[in-house]
Amino acid sequence: MIPLIGCHRQSLLADDDVSPVPHSIVTTDITGKMVVLGCGTSVGVPAIGCGCEVCQSTNPKNNRTRSSVIFGLPGGNLLVDTTPEMRVQLIRERIGLVHAVVYTHEHADHIFGLDDLRLFPFMIGGPVPLYCQTAVEQRIRTSFDYAFQQTAETHQGSRPKLVFETITDAPFEVLGVTVMPIPLCHGARTRVFGFRIGDVAYCTDVSEIPAESIGRLRNLDTLILGSLRYKPHPTHLCVDEAVAIVRELSPRQTYFTHMAHELEYETLKSELPDYIQPAYDGLQVALV
Ligand SMILES: [Zn+2]
Ligand SMILES: [Zn+2]
Ligand SMILES: [Zn+2]
Repeated sequence: MIPLIGCHRQSLLADDDVSPVPHSIVTTDITGKMVVLGCGTSVGVPAIGCGCEVCQSTNPKNNRTRSSVIFGLPGGNLLVDTTPEMRVQLIRERIGLVHAVVYTHEHADHIFGLDDLRLFPFMIGGPVPLYCQTAVEQRIRTSFDYAFQQTAETHQGSRPKLVFETITDAPFEVLGVTVMPIPLCHGARTRVFGFRIGDVAYCTDVSEIPAESIGRLRNLDTLILGSLRYKPHPTHLCVDEAVAIVRELSPRQTYFTHMAHELEYETLKSELPDYIQPAYDGLQVALV
């Protein structure tokens, strides 16, 4: 059952070329849940042109779009990252509204769907807030320079309307909850964020958890943790390293994300203890 939320006919049909905008907003109510929009590595699974068993698999759980989740919070939907497949992911899950975005880091597989945020200002009545570190803001301002031009728009909705909210290691409030940033190492040079809301944490691109972040990941109900492949990698945890971290943190349930085509869903699931499972696109987790 998909509830219809409001009718914004007036503002949505105003004088522009944003023709695909509906007369009313169709969206699924995900309040109290986190939905895994994508759990694939930077090139996605299947990888273009790859003939391996996983890329050729007919099991939909081996079909992974780029990594992202969305939280259904009391004040609206908080999207984590804007992947190149953001539009496809939201349509697939029938989620028609994004009220704010928080970014883990500035890599291409986590930001390049940003232009598709253009529709949301019509629905939420203002620019989309982007919560991110300054390094992410700088990358977005460079990569999407047209969104920040001072010249008048050619027509309404031609550019994304965005407002930056700078975040640091300190907890911040958004959409009625407190979000705890989790500083993470993503290779030797890049510091990124995971995020904890209540007892659910999302840590996607990570090669090491700094000692000072361990305390922020204690007593979790659910942990979503990046685990790229079996072989070690310079900027991501491999399966054995991720399992060791799970054993140290002891969340009730862990799901692996940011998985490459070396990881076959059913095989990996059978190799892991019950309290660790591979995620899949569309997985839902209760927020507690
Ligand atoms: Zn990534
Ligand atoms: Zn492959
Ligand atoms: Zn990355």
